[in-house]
Amino acid sequence: MTTANILLVEDEPAIQELLAFNVAQCGYRAIQAFDVPAAQAEINRALPDLILLDWMLPGTSGVEFARRLRADSRTRDIPIIMLTARTEEHDKVLGLESGADDYITKPFSPRELMARIRAVLRRRAPQMTDETVRAEGIELSPTTHRVNAKGVNVELGPTEFRLLHFFMTHTERVYSRTQLLDQVWGDHVFVEERTIDVHIRRLRQALEPSGLDNLIQTVRGSGYRFSKE
Ligand code: CA
Repeated sequence: MTTANILLVEDEPAIQELLAFNVAQCGYRAIQAFDVPAAQAEINRALPDLILLDWMLPGTSGVEFARRLRADSRTRDIPIIMLTARTEEHDKVLGLESGADDYITKPFSPRELMARIRAVLRRRAPQMTDETVRAEGIELSPTTHRVNAKGVNVELGPTEFRLLHFFMTHTERVYSRTQLLDQVWGDHVFVEERTIDVHIRRLRQALEPSGLDNLIQTVRGSGYRFSKE
């Protein structure tokens, strides 16, 4: 299964540790930031798959940061769960208006927190869950790491597997090489764009025996797309 990277933005050390512990227990990778500048630096380095964002932070608030992330095309689609110590409706509404996908009120139970994380990931980042995906005659199972194309077993390397998983959960949309690096590699700085072309080629070769290699389409001047059209 692809491990989701979860960025924890929380200034209180005890809560930060609690979050990190629970996130790791669930098999996710926790990335810790104690304020907005540190969180921004992590995001600049690699896009996380989900952000747990505290409402009250020193300096820039969580709400302000969420708005900023939603206004930037690179970070617009990152799922955000807001952590808040307040329960007033007003705050909840503000939290949702700021672009958060969900919010959770402190104190929270680890079980509730994990259920929220799973629900948001399933909705916003289906390639980060371990559910079997089916599209256009291909069946991909993240738990067993198996891919079946029209009854033919397909052997894929880890990168090709992640790439296909991403495409199958984001069909019919064109992704530039930069976007694929962000979404599949999680890193748009240290990997060369032509690396993607190499993995696309390998993925197509692996799908060739099933005749489904044409699903991985090159869109000239733009990038790649998974489509049967
Ligand atoms: Ca706080």
